[in-house]
Amino acid sequence: MFTAILIEKDTDGYHAGLAKIDPANLPEGDVKVRVAYSSLNFKDGLAITGKSPVVRSFPMVPGIDLAGTVEESSHAEFKVGDQVVLNGWGVGENHWGGLAQYASLKGDWLVPLPAAFTPAQAMAIGTAGYTAMLCVLALERHGVTPDQGEILVTGAAGGVGSVAVALLAKLGYRVVASTGRTAESDYLTELGAAEIIDRATLSAPGKPMAKERWAGVIDSVGSHTLVNACAATRYGGTVAACGLAQGMDFPGSVAPFILRGVTLAGVDSVNCPKPRRLEAWQRLALDLDPAKLARLTTEISLVEALAQAPEILAGHVRGRIVVDVNA
Ligand code: NDP
Repeated sequence: MFTAILIEKDTDGYHAGLAKIDPANLPEGDVKVRVAYSSLNFKDGLAITGKSPVVRSFPMVPGIDLAGTVEESSHAEFKVGDQVVLNGWGVGENHWGGLAQYASLKGDWLVPLPAAFTPAQAMAIGTAGYTAMLCVLALERHGVTPDQGEILVTGAAGGVGSVAVALLAKLGYRVVASTGRTAESDYLTELGAAEIIDRATLSAPGKPMAKERWAGVIDSVGSHTLVNACAATRYGGTVAACGLAQGMDFPGSVAPFILRGVTLAGVDSVNCPKPRRLEAWQRLALDLDPAKLARLTTEISLVEALAQAPEILAGHVRGRIVVDVNA
């Protein structure tokens, strides 16, 4: 028997708790992984609390991330003893996920653990960090370079935001961090932010076009914040949009796109093709300072993940949370 968080929906309603699971009940998969670490992402918060219908079948083991060791494999690319990482692919939503001591997965979903990282470091990065790197790659693909001007990072004290600040600073960009937690200014400065702004300056309805400021934006917030970020993006700049912490709406104008040639680049981590995942993990190994990664990480146990789920949705979690599933 192994331990996992299990979400059930029955006559008692929607509830999540620790459970002992018979390995025989693991779902179909060609690779069985002994999980070392998982992580807590915004989406895991939604799954555990049931605040948004991200879980598609019940019972469900949540956890969109995991790092661990292959224990059984009939997949050509992976053999017993290999260390692997999984992010997304609907795991923790419609296939049992990483907040457990074991997982049975499709080998096609896995990437090898990069040599630069321990399993705990890979989960400190997790989906949030790998998504931050996908956003950086999107800015680069659209020609944004450090000499063009400032980059705005919204939701900066959160998981995606913290890793984005650290990555962009290392790459030589001048990073402006938008946060609702100005008490975290020292933290954001240590990660590499050159300036901190109050998110209230971006979160209310604004004008279709504002004074040009940003060469690029990484936005994990959506709604009016994303609209205002686009409105103040410089001619030819790029906004990488990956999140909805403020809202899923986009109550804006096409003016920045058609009058300033601004690009709105959507970023999805869940179904991102494997070559781009591998590129993102390779770049994380090169461009993420391990000391900054340690600075933005907190480690908790499986049972503590239950209590942290509403906290991440409330925007109270700073940086990234790693879950030691064996603690
Ligand atoms: P976190 O909760 O760690 O970070 C979100 C941050 O957004 C908070 O820390 C807070 O930052 C800010 N925030 C929260 N509520 C509001 C609000 N009402 N208005 C404005 N800002 C707010 O979550 P993650 O970093 O893990 O994820 C961020 C977003 O990105 C989520 O919406 C998530 O679903 C999405 N995401 C999308 C992915 C994709 O594949 N597209 C992958 C990963 C995440 P501060 O306190 O600094 O203001």
